[in-house]
Amino acid sequence: MPELIDSHCHIDATEFDADRDAVIERARSAGVTRQIVPAVTRNGFAKLRDICALNAGLFPAYGLHPMFLDAHRESDIAELEEWVDREKPVAIGECGLDFYVEGLDETDQRRYFDAQLRLARDRGLPVIAHARRAVDDVTAAIRRIGTPSGVVHSFSGSMQQAENLWELGFLLGIGGPVTYERAKKLRGVVAKMPLEYLLLETDAPDQPGHGHRGARNEPALLVEVLEVIARLRDQDPAEIAAATTANARRLFRLPDA
Ligand code: ZN
Repeated sequence: MPELIDSHCHIDATEFDADRDAVIERARSAGVTRQIVPAVTRNGFAKLRDICALNAGLFPAYGLHPMFLDAHRESDIAELEEWVDREKPVAIGECGLDFYVEGLDETDQRRYFDAQLRLARDRGLPVIAHARRAVDDVTAAIRRIGTPSGVVHSFSGSMQQAENLWELGFLLGIGGPVTYERAKKLRGVVAKMPLEYLLLETDAPDQPGHGHRGARNEPALLVEVLEVIARLRDQDPAEIAAATTANARRLFRLPDA
């Protein structure tokens, strides 16, 4: 089996503080040799950087997540720019729009997201976008600002919405939700979509797949996502592994393994 890349894993989260090394080792043993680790708040940047620096195969992205709007300050945008210029991350993110969680001011969300899309465009970096109940709004913002590449992580939308993103050069991150039988629309998109736009992700410690409900998700479980996608597409898992790994390497400009 070719190596796998978890394109979205919060391995810096406190949920992994007690046994992070063991989690990373289990992932490697399962063939998940590399992880993209997106930030969520400014306060977490240093911890995330240090964890990635200590572990070969972990690659940081820096950004301000819409669900943590209350933690962000206007000055975080300038700080993010400094971090990006100094630390040379593989992407800007996690950023985006969340119209599902109540109480997140829409205007503020859009201001932070637009600023990060502009930063990604100006620095020539891909974006890792969160789009919950907001795929059309995220797509419109990407188009308006002209951010050239990225991924909409944990994609949940229609085939038409997927096509709109592909036209803009964006990929779809697919993880735990696709393992649930009731996710009919998502499964339909994943079954038919061109492989060149697919990235595998866990979003660990969140979004555990079928059979792990309520438990902490972890990057080793990326293999189960791969197996479900292979079944849905009636395709060899090794072929999907090779293609999605190549996609992640291209998008994030990762070095040879
Ligand atoms: Zn995330």
